[in-house]
Amino acid sequence: MINLLKTHFGYDEFRPLQAEIIEHVLAGRDSLVLMPTGGGKSLCFQLPALKLAGLTLVVSPLIALMKDQVDALQANGIPAAFINSTLGPAEMARVLTATREGTIKILYAAPERLAKVAFRNFLAQVDVSLIAIDEAHCISEWGHDFRPDYRNLKILRQDFPNSPVLALTATATATVREDIVRQLALKNGRTFVSSFNRPNLTYIVKPKHHTFEALTEILGEHRGEATIIYCFSRRGTEELAGQLRAAGFEARAYHAGLDHQTRSEAQEKFIRDETAVIVATIAFGMGIDKPDVRLVVHYDLPKSIEGYYQETGRAGRDGLPGKCILFYSFGDKIKHDYFIERMEDPQEQARARAKLTEMVDFCESFLCRRASLLQYFGETPAEQNCANCDICLGTSEDFDATEISQKVLSAVARTGERFGAGHVIDVLRGSANQKVVERGHDRLSVHGIAAELSVYELRQIFGALSARGLLEKRGAEYPVIGVSPSGRLWLKNREELTLPKPQKPATARTAAKSRPLSPTSREGLTGQREELFQELRALRKRLADERGVPPFVIFGDISLKEMALRQPRDLDGFADIYGVGAEKLKRFATTFLATIAAYLDTHEGGRQENQSD
Ligand code: ADP
Ligand code: ZN
Repeated sequence: MINLLKTHFGYDEFRPLQAEIIEHVLAGRDSLVLMPTGGGKSLCFQLPALKLAGLTLVVSPLIALMKDQVDALQANGIPAAFINSTLGPAEMARVLTATREGTIKILYAAPERLAKVAFRNFLAQVDVSLIAIDEAHCISEWGHDFRPDYRNLKILRQDFPNSPVLALTATATATVREDIVRQLALKNGRTFVSSFNRPNLTYIVKPKHHTFEALTEILGEHRGEATIIYCFSRRGTEELAGQLRAAGFEARAYHAGLDHQTRSEAQEKFIRDETAVIVATIAFGMGIDKPDVRLVVHYDLPKSIEGYYQETGRAGRDGLPGKCILFYSFGDKIKHDYFIERMEDPQEQARARAKLTEMVDFCESFLCRRASLLQYFGETPAEQNCANCDICLGTSEDFDATEISQKVLSAVARTGERFGAGHVIDVLRGSANQKVVERGHDRLSVHGIAAELSVYELRQIFGALSARGLLEKRGAEYPVIGVSPSGRLWLKNREELTLPKPQKPATARTAAKSRPLSPTSREGLTGQREELFQELRALRKRLADERGVPPFVIFGDISLKEMALRQPRDLDGFADIYGVGAEKLKRFATTFLATIAAYLDTHEGGRQENQSD
């Protein structure tokens, strides 16, 4: 299997769980695989497909992706094809014949196809060795992306009772997981769950303040790199895209309200590296399999941690660093509240409210972002300091918080522990808004005792006091803040208390800039290697356009970076590059070697730079 891995994909070793899963599949047993995006799920059926006698049928709901996946397989010398509504009759007949004759090893099909009698009759004549079901959570009504067509998979199970089934997904709660196993009737199967940690992603939450300037600064650092910016509303995407273009960034808007052609053009240009920045609603992403997205920005607050995890998960699928930046303001929560208020189904409303509260807690927390995410998915994080999120990278110093904590806890107690942090903060800052005045809170002794602090700083202090267990949230739907028993004890004894110093909104941005937060540049190339990398990218783009495939089908960024770093001179050296298998060696080695050689000839220094490390 290792040999097949090297020959066809150019990789030297398996990722965690891949080898076990492949072994299980080859033993003819059913499996359910839960792996995060970019974990390497596809390999779990693509590699067995090469070894199995018959056909591997892959069911996938994402018609838009099938062609790219098949192109990528063919570029690796693996006979694959897809069958969906985009094929003309002649093409369709050609694929069916080739499949029947056994010259195609992997066939992709959409779930609705399985309901068609003609297709079932066709499959009946084929030796199906393995059935892979991608995005398997779509079968469950409990999931976030239920597709009625996935019910057709039961027919498949009946038609091929002896073919092993491999169900794969990147998102599944315990309920969805059980539902998949039951609905697909997975027999003597096993569930493989890999860690949902994405170590190559940097998670950063920033105050939503001077946001546009902060954004253009970040985009400037990532110029030319594939970036997705998520906005809350359709109008928001168009406005922001327009502002970015005016500021000199090639950006396009994407949302479900645009006509089909505009949307597919935006998507296509993004995949083909012609538009670097997409400003989108969450409608964008499901059909995108671009491995080299380097930056995902949430310009507005996401609705849930699940959504946030999934959207940020689109960064760095190739394993190279990806940066995820979320701009947080409590005002965004209120925007979401407005929509939640208008939901008709009370159950759905309660769920939405609870999810939003979790999201807000995540942003306001002082815990490692990665640890928070993993805990959310029921995993115990391996370490408390990941050194790759704003909290763990923060140079935040502690300060003597005895006095302010006393003020905050008193204010919570004196207002009756019946309000959220927002209201208590208004009181602390001496606001005379309607809610404060109506309740007589402007007459309390705590009114205005922390007027020198901004809302943003106070929110951080509330977060820190909750993290210390002195404050507690009560109630899921309309949470209120209360003083916990240990908070009461502390108020009585008034021991000295230190907390992380809150960031001021205005300095948060400059502070972040001086810290080594850019993993892309940390792992990046400098000087002439960067120049060579850019030349190789240009070559890749040309070759991709000639063949009508996305650039990453030719080579991923990791491969190009390795070429720029190691500067191979001959076929042997080239074969050692990550992602170079036998087929790509045959097809592309000469062209890439020529470009590298030409570059080195005109830049003698390139060699020296290489030898000096
Ligand atoms: P998923 O479907 O889980 O989101 P993919 O199957 O698309 O992930 O894999 C993500 C990327 O990782 C792809 O570019 C794939 O070629 C690469 N990859 C998969 N397995 C390995 C491996 N063992 N070594 C190196 N790269 C791998
Ligand atoms: Zn961390």
